[in-house]
Amino acid sequence: MQAIPKAEHGIDPALVSPAAVRIVHKLCEAGFEAYIVGGAVRDLLLGAHPKDFDVATNATPEQVKGLFRSARIIGRRFQIVHVRDGREVIEVTTYRGHHGSEGAQPATSKQSDKGLLLRDNVYGTLEEDAARRDLTINAMYYDPEREVVLDQLAGTEDLQARLVRVIGDPWARYREDPVRMLRVARFAAKLQFDLEPTTEEAIADCAPLLREIPPARLFDEFLKLFMAGFGKPTFLLLLQHDLLSCLCPAATESINAQTSHRHLVSMAMGNTDQRVKDGRPVTPAFLLAALLWPAVTTRSGQLLQEGMPPAQAINSAGQQLTAETCQHMAIPKRFSIPMREIWELQPKLERQQKRRVPDILSGRRFRAAYDLLLLRDQAGPDLEQAVQFWTEQQRLNPELVGSAPRTDDERPASKRRRPRRRKPAP
Ligand code: ATP
Ligand code: MG
Repeated sequence: MQAIPKAEHGIDPALVSPAAVRIVHKLCEAGFEAYIVGGAVRDLLLGAHPKDFDVATNATPEQVKGLFRSARIIGRRFQIVHVRDGREVIEVTTYRGHHGSEGAQPATSKQSDKGLLLRDNVYGTLEEDAARRDLTINAMYYDPEREVVLDQLAGTEDLQARLVRVIGDPWARYREDPVRMLRVARFAAKLQFDLEPTTEEAIADCAPLLREIPPARLFDEFLKLFMAGFGKPTFLLLLQHDLLSCLCPAATESINAQTSHRHLVSMAMGNTDQRVKDGRPVTPAFLLAALLWPAVTTRSGQLLQEGMPPAQAINSAGQQLTAETCQHMAIPKRFSIPMREIWELQPKLERQQKRRVPDILSGRRFRAAYDLLLLRDQAGPDLEQAVQFWTEQQRLNPELVGSAPRTDDERPASKRRRPRRRKPAP
């Protein structure tokens, strides 16, 4: 395996998390191997601040737990240990081995008929662990004590060539875990890298496999794709490779049908990215409202033609589309409820009724609904009058905007009122 010395890799030790270094040190002291691995090494080699740190080791999850008081074993499909050190949580994973190798038994290894990995807890060597990772640029190991990088799959070369390359045969690797296709798009967009040709070619064949992924996992992935500050380039890449339709088919169909629709969603993504960069709060509810809006208007347009009143048409289209989308990615209620409220405010904002102003302005969703109205106006239909009206109303009544009290649903979990426990019957 290629060991790259400090003079060549140039990692700045000041960017390395002291907590990760302490954990590696303690594991090594106890006689195990341990390295910083994955995205952290990739980002360190690019001179960037890693978002979080992962550690790989030959110690089993139980052995890791034995060494750290703050360790918690989590996961089933893929067991990992969370070790808390101060305010940081470091993910410690045991080297994965090959399925079909000696250590592979039903308790540790399970694959579906189609090759999907259902359980992935076969332990192996560092070489096997590297080969089981998703991308060459995510499969490098950093030893913070000797300050060397171990790179057996030429990840450093791909970093230099700015290429996202799946390790091994992309068709087989996507079949094992179709979410890897979304990861390919995410890293290509975030790093502004190109896709290596076979990595790209296999996506066209394998994209439908994403339908096999549990909707809850796809929603987790949705958040990583769009809430991390690179939503706009990710959105465009997912559209280009027809991967977005696996997350939200109806929305994608409407987005592909009209340039103005694509424009609206892409602006919403761009605004969210900017907010992330400025450190301002962002909510998936707004992004989801924008992403599905083209489908909501298309569907409600059909209902209007059938004679349904506007408010009812939006309400009904919104309900249908939420239910349809949740079959692919499970949007939690705490996001789908505000998302629908943002839609339902659109016809009310368009109507500009004076007597409804205090009620609408003070509503919790007013700001988000107004932001969507602005985007709609910029993307296509002429809503300038409505925009002017609501801009003026906010100027006249700043104290009212969003002033209605929060419902319990909207409070962070820590601030929610606990339901009173009933005394057990005697
Ligand atoms: P980020 O900057 O988003 O944290 P990351 O590369 O660290 O990027 P994680 O999701 O934290 O991504 O995963 C950590 C590492 O685990 C990855 O770098 C990769 O080596 C490996 N990994 C994660 N998901 C998969 C997967 N689906 N298949 C194979 N390897 C994976
Ligand atoms: Mg990570």
